[in-house]
Amino acid sequence: MFIKSAKGAYLFDEDGNQFIDYINSWGPMILGHAYEPVVKAIQEKATTSTSFGAPTALEIEMAELIKSMCPNVDLIRMVSSGTEACMSAIRLARGYTGKNKFIKFEGCYHGHADCFLVKAGSGVATLNIQTVPGVTSGVAKDTLTAPYNNLSAVEKLIEENKKEIAAIILEPVVGNMGCVPPQQGFLEGLRKLCDEENIVLIFDEVMTGFRLAAGGAQEYFGINADLVTYGKVIGGGLPVGAFGGKEEIMEHIAPLGNVYQAGTLSGNPIAMIAGFTMLNELKNNPSIYNELDEKGARLEKSLNDILAGKNIPHRINRVESMMSVFFTNEEVIDFETASKTDISLFNKFFHHMLNNGIYLPPSAFESWFISNALSSEEIQKTLDAVEDFKG
Ligand SMILES: *Cc1c(COP(=O)(O)O)cnc(C)c1O
Repeated sequence: MFIKSAKGAYLFDEDGNQFIDYINSWGPMILGHAYEPVVKAIQEKATTSTSFGAPTALEIEMAELIKSMCPNVDLIRMVSSGTEACMSAIRLARGYTGKNKFIKFEGCYHGHADCFLVKAGSGVATLNIQTVPGVTSGVAKDTLTAPYNNLSAVEKLIEENKKEIAAIILEPVVGNMGCVPPQQGFLEGLRKLCDEENIVLIFDEVMTGFRLAAGGAQEYFGINADLVTYGKVIGGGLPVGAFGGKEEIMEHIAPLGNVYQAGTLSGNPIAMIAGFTMLNELKNNPSIYNELDEKGARLEKSLNDILAGKNIPHRINRVESMMSVFFTNEEVIDFETASKTDISLFNKFFHHMLNNGIYLPPSAFESWFISNALSSEEIQKTLDAVEDFKG
């Protein structure tokens, strides 16, 4: 589909069709499309030039705002995408610990940097690409993988690679194999292992940041990571990413330290004002998070009831405004169980919904993202479309 424009909860395609949007640019449009304060701020800022290649006061204000919202962020570096944030965080963890390997989880996605394209989620899972051509074995050998929610697999990897693991990176709620929450004790267990083994714990909050709560998953679950990566919501729809965390680690980045990282357009004023305006709205209107959760809860409950009434095997995973419908009888806790979903049924469901004006992620391995522009009316339209689904 080629999109022409969007406003609030609605997308308009080039063929003149309109859709209720459950992708929301994969997360950034948490307050709906063309959100007025963000649009105005961008317009105003653009008149004062779009890039200087030098620092601005706005970057500092942005950093202060993020620090005021997110736990455990002493220092933060702006970049231009989630990919950059995650690859820089891994480089930093390696530079800081002097170790080379890191652990990621099957079905998690951390952007398209070479080292992450091992058993990755998102498009890699959707297209069922087993090994990504162009990623050398030299790079891939330092990426160790474990099933999500499986602490003993992580313990085993640490045991087998004693004093070689620089970092563990994960999505604290996975969105990139569909929505998969951490089980009780999983995040706590990783925190403990990292403390014991001098491993840097990296929460990839590119999806969860500013979405699960103003302070992201760290606040939501009450667990501190050592480094955190942000993207998506943080840019309000413009290209922004960031990585931050403990001062003791962050001060190893150049120019304070020698771990080099830079970007010509990082901290770009237009991107900063869009993100700054978005985050300010979220900070100043904390009830947004209750509203998002209520919308998610209504969708979850009604979808459950409707699909159960049709005897369609399904599991719905939801955390706040992230959710997925898996067409399977089994609980979905990792990539293996997510893969049990009936893909052909998903395809039918997706096209049925699309034909009824509902734009869902076009993959069984992606989360839905609920925006606060979604009103009761759009939710009802969505449920009506599900009612009409024949299976
Ligand atoms: C989208 C995503 C990324 C990559 O962000 P880009 O801005 O697309 O480079 C990294 N991690 C997670 C968890 C994501 O969802």
